[in-house]
Amino acid sequence: MDRRSWLTGAASGLLLPWTSAAQAPRPVVGGLETFRVRVNRRGEWVLFRLTASSGLTGIGDASHGGDDELAMSLGRGFAEAMKGRGIFDVEWLRRTALPEVERSKRPAAVALGGIEQCLWDLQGKALGLPVYKLFGGMLHPRIRNYANINRSTEERSPAGFAAMARQAVSAGFDAVKLAPFDDMPRLDADPKLLSEFTELGVERTRAVREAIGPEKDLLIDVHSRMDLPRGLELAQRLATLNLYWLEEVCRGLPELAAINKAAPMPTAGGESLFGTKGFYEYIKAGAVDIVMPDIKYCGGLLEMKKIAAMAEGAGLPASPHGPASPVGNMAAAHVCATLPNFQILEYAFGEVPWRADLVEPPETLDRGWLGVPERPGFGIALNEETIRRHAV
Ligand SMILES: [Mg+2]
Repeated sequence: MDRRSWLTGAASGLLLPWTSAAQAPRPVVGGLETFRVRVNRRGEWVLFRLTASSGLTGIGDASHGGDDELAMSLGRGFAEAMKGRGIFDVEWLRRTALPEVERSKRPAAVALGGIEQCLWDLQGKALGLPVYKLFGGMLHPRIRNYANINRSTEERSPAGFAAMARQAVSAGFDAVKLAPFDDMPRLDADPKLLSEFTELGVERTRAVREAIGPEKDLLIDVHSRMDLPRGLELAQRLATLNLYWLEEVCRGLPELAAINKAAPMPTAGGESLFGTKGFYEYIKAGAVDIVMPDIKYCGGLLEMKKIAAMAEGAGLPASPHGPASPVGNMAAAHVCATLPNFQILEYAFGEVPWRADLVEPPETLDRGWLGVPERPGFGIALNEETIRRHAV
């Protein structure tokens, strides 16, 4: 049986034990709507809206799963499985979805994360409380965001990156991230070519540092394009550029740990990991100084809280990854607001001019800081007109 027919089976209630009459006394969580909007060549935004039997709705971000159709299909399957369960059954959803996440990886992780976000938004609305109050209460009423300019920079020259960085600073951000080694050839390519592209990445970094000045924070994501020797050398070369952090230099936990130990600047990573288990191994290996769970990939809000707690126990800050839609950012912000070890949140700068209008009220950042609303749930709703206008 393939995955789609498995889901069809799940939808009809024929295969899954949790849809048996004994366990489904009443349908509490209702149907799922899925939306997809066109953003850019880097990916679309996939949004979920789950309606409870009360008529309340909750929203979630299930973007960047690598296969949007499959993520939406899996999301519908998880929502179908939730029928007969309550909006508080987050751990049940997690346990139920785990085998599919192990099978299908990222598309299932974003589907789970999207539904999980919907449940928390629903819980907040049902209780008349902002979601952060369900996660331990407010420590940070305003969430500092850094501008990730990598997704919006089309002109990939040092000057092109510098120009986009200046735009981010003009918009009020005091921290900027780029991934200047994205076009590195594979590591088995001609070493001369690898050195040329490394040089180009360093030039891009230097150009952005010059553009934003010495005071602003500069974050560099290597997207695992280096091997250990090149990564160690790179960390030393970037030392003079006063980085806020150096992210995901290479693959492999022992290699990352070696980079982390030797790097003169803090290192960060973990965006692609799922769940407490993935982060436990990562933290135990000493892979990074700063852990970066993604609300869409890591399992959702509750999983993010647990991961951040593990990091806290290890003496590490948590800086959630998330170049996502305003829905994902706000879902993450409600958790971040409660974290003793929260450091900074990611914001995808300049992807589309209509970004703020994806939600109501429109997303508002004050010089890079996102306020956490006091309204029930996440405090935002989908703007259906914007979604219709940019629908895939
Ligand atoms: Mg990254």
